[in-house]
Amino acid sequence: MHLILFGPPAAGKGTQAKRLVETRGFIQLSTGDMLRAARASGSELGLKVASILDSGALVSDEIVIALIKEQLDNNPDAAGFIFDGFPRTIPQAEALDDLLASKGAKIDKVIRLVVDNEALIARISKRFEEQGRADDNPEVFVTRLEAYNSQTAPLLPFYADKGVMSEVDGMASIEEVSAAIDGALA
Ligand code: AMP
Repeated sequence: MHLILFGPPAAGKGTQAKRLVETRGFIQLSTGDMLRAARASGSELGLKVASILDSGALVSDEIVIALIKEQLDNNPDAAGFIFDGFPRTIPQAEALDDLLASKGAKIDKVIRLVVDNEALIARISKRFEEQGRADDNPEVFVTRLEAYNSQTAPLLPFYADKGVMSEVDGMASIEEVSAAIDGALA
């Protein structure tokens, strides 16, 4: 079972992905986490992407597709993957389909966390105060939201057309969102 948690930044994808890792033994593949780890390690990739991460824009498709390919190749026996923050563009989604197809697999489900923008901005301001993640800075967050609207939202019809999408109210409590996701996966 391979699934995508879909939604704008700060919709709660990471929180729900971590719960699914615990309850179902799936592997979470968060390109945002991988890129932050690369930056923290000071690797060549990290140096290359640092200023892009700080700006809130998307890094190139080539970079994130390579990161995902590496993880898929390294985990041939995974019970399932949860893609969190990937794909974010149509070329990424097409590449993911091809990578999975080459392993005889596919995306079984896309769970869309539906949230409203005003609430997201409030949520992110709180996270910025609590965790101090640089790209949660309210100005950068607006760029991230714009990137979502222009480059990532076009994936909604892409997956709706495949008949694999379920929508969940991402404004509900964490427990309610968890229950709705379990219902969608049942
Ligand atoms: P996230 O934690 O998923 O919001 O990602 C943080 C940042 O990493 C984003 O603002 C982008 O700069 C970069 N990033 C993460 N995933 C992707 C992706 N799939 N495509 C392009 N850029 C990404």
